[in-house]
Amino acid sequence: MKSFPICPDLKIVSSKRNKRMVLSYKEGRFFLSVPLFVDEKTIEAFLQANASWIQEKRESKVKEGDTVFLFDRSYHVCFADQSWIKDDTLFYDPQSWLSFIAHFARPRLRQEFEETRKKFGFPYVELRFGHYRSKWGSCTPMKNIIALNIKLAFVSKKAREAIYVHELTHLEEANHSKAFYERLYLRLDDYDERMKEFKNLHLPLL
Ligand SMILES: [Zn+2]
Repeated sequence: MKSFPICPDLKIVSSKRNKRMVLSYKEGRFFLSVPLFVDEKTIEAFLQANASWIQEKRESKVKEGDTVFLFDRSYHVCFADQSWIKDDTLFYDPQSWLSFIAHFARPRLRQEFEETRKKFGFPYVELRFGHYRSKWGSCTPMKNIIALNIKLAFVSKKAREAIYVHELTHLEEANHSKAFYERLYLRLDDYDERMKEFKNLHLPLL
């Protein structure tokens, strides 16, 4: 499939289950699901028809000089040819960003998670990290594994703790049962309040 100038970073997903074209945007990337056998002209026309929407999304990307919150500290974004952090400046290079932020976030998330785990008296659990698209964390009680989303770096510590305690509680109750929430609220009675942050979250699109 050729690339389309109006949206060069478009990822096209074709499937016979797709009945029509659907354009979506998630975390800085455009996706177009199309039915099988759609020709390029039709896609081009569809993108043209959605040009202003595409433009609008593009502009919400992080810009030079923007402020980004990372582990409850604010940083000025400065575009650079490498990603790193010095004092209160976040040097941003799209090529190296994902590996940089993973490197930066993993030890910090691990340390915080460990503090929370010990505070609530949970035994050791294996931790995994990833750039997940649709979950903040997950727990596999049978294997004693908890996975945390690297993007937790961008939310507040209170919100992160809510995710840690939620996943830890899954070690005792695998499902979102009444018993699960009883245990959860016993540990964090302001759990709902903490989770509100995720409702209207504007993650920096880096
Ligand atoms: Zn859950």
